[in-house]
Amino acid sequence: MKEVTFKEAKEILRIIENNGHQAYFVGGAVRDSLLKRPMGDIDITTSASPETVTKMFSKVIPVGIEHGTVIVRYKGYSYEITTFRSETGYSDHRHPDQITFVRNVEEDLARRDFTINAIAMDYNEKIVDPFQGRIDLSNKVIKTVGNPIERFREDPLRIMRALRFSSQLGFKMDPDTWTAIKENAAWLEKISIERIAVELQKLFAGTYTTHGMHFFINSGVQAYLPILKDHSELVIKWRDLSQPIQSWEELISLFHHYLPKVEVEEWVKSWKLSNKIKRDALHLVRAIAYYDQYQHIDEWLVYQLPRQLDASFIRMLSILTNKSLTIDKMKTIRNNLPIKDRTEIVISGSDIIGLFPMQQKGPWINKLLTMIEKKIVRGEISNEPNELGKWLMTWNPQDID
Ligand code: ATP
Ligand code: MG
Repeated sequence: MKEVTFKEAKEILRIIENNGHQAYFVGGAVRDSLLKRPMGDIDITTSASPETVTKMFSKVIPVGIEHGTVIVRYKGYSYEITTFRSETGYSDHRHPDQITFVRNVEEDLARRDFTINAIAMDYNEKIVDPFQGRIDLSNKVIKTVGNPIERFREDPLRIMRALRFSSQLGFKMDPDTWTAIKENAAWLEKISIERIAVELQKLFAGTYTTHGMHFFINSGVQAYLPILKDHSELVIKWRDLSQPIQSWEELISLFHHYLPKVEVEEWVKSWKLSNKIKRDALHLVRAIAYYDQYQHIDEWLVYQLPRQLDASFIRMLSILTNKSLTIDKMKTIRNNLPIKDRTEIVISGSDIIGLFPMQQKGPWINKLLTMIEKKIVRGEISNEPNELGKWLMTWNPQDID
């Protein structure tokens, strides 16, 4: 999909303004556009209440009305629109005890984490920057809005966010912000691992990973993170790789390779990752192990790896073996496979049972099918009833262990 730009998004600001309310772009999109980096999604902040915003647009998803947030779908893009608000009291270190809608954008900017994220921009590209975020952008500094200790106490996730921004942007830490991070890293224990996992993924995928890893290691946060806290050798390996890792499944398969005693399942469980990440990591681990054993890429390896993991596998291979393989080579092997999956085999389990009426049913049927599947995929036998039948007649049940 085409990348979203302010040009389309400005229509939204216009609609809100025409309804008599203020509206600004805010957060990452403003920061990234001032840095001339590609922007992620566009967030909008407005004086209009969520109910009022809901009435202005036809496609609105009420993701967090109580926090003042709705998602508006407009001309094929999604925009998070949040009503100006402030937050007070974080007795559980997770959620503000109370959010209050406020009247002006400056008050909204004051609740935001870092000065570089607390810049707003209106329809005419006029900037509202009460915390001198633009100066910190040009000095490449990550600095909290207000007292860093208080801001990290309110929401310790901001500690992880500071580290991930250093990895994404290559920025240094403001001295007071940095001291507060190092002295209060333990507060991370109070927040949910799912929120930490989102930020950690952005950290290890950052363009300036080496830079980010330097701050990560010196901050001491790893002492509060599952698995990593018991395996500092992994963190050192990771730092020495000095390149971005694109996804959790890649990171886990890599770490499992370095430290086989920690299984994929344990990573997924202790970091509360999704089943999809687990499945994909297991696929990558299997493909890497197969490559380790045979030292080459063959049809069977490609066949077993889901197509959407080709790029991940190529990256893992280059990290672990220095071998470079192009996605085109994978594609060529993939496109020449005689079958795409087991259902395409022209004989079935029941055909096999019919051919060997004296054999008791059992796991051998499945093993035999896998043998046939492998032979077809490798081009040793063709997927054609006569030929498979002929081969099966020469097959001896003792051939399977
Ligand atoms: P990205 O490009 O990764 O989306 P972002 O800066 O937009 O980066 P988001 O997590 O999308 O980050 O948050 C949007 C904005 O909301 C931030 O720029 C910041 O102003 C504010 N924000 C997000 N999380 C926090 C937090 N934990 N504490 C304070 N402000 C936050
Ligand atoms: Mg964002």
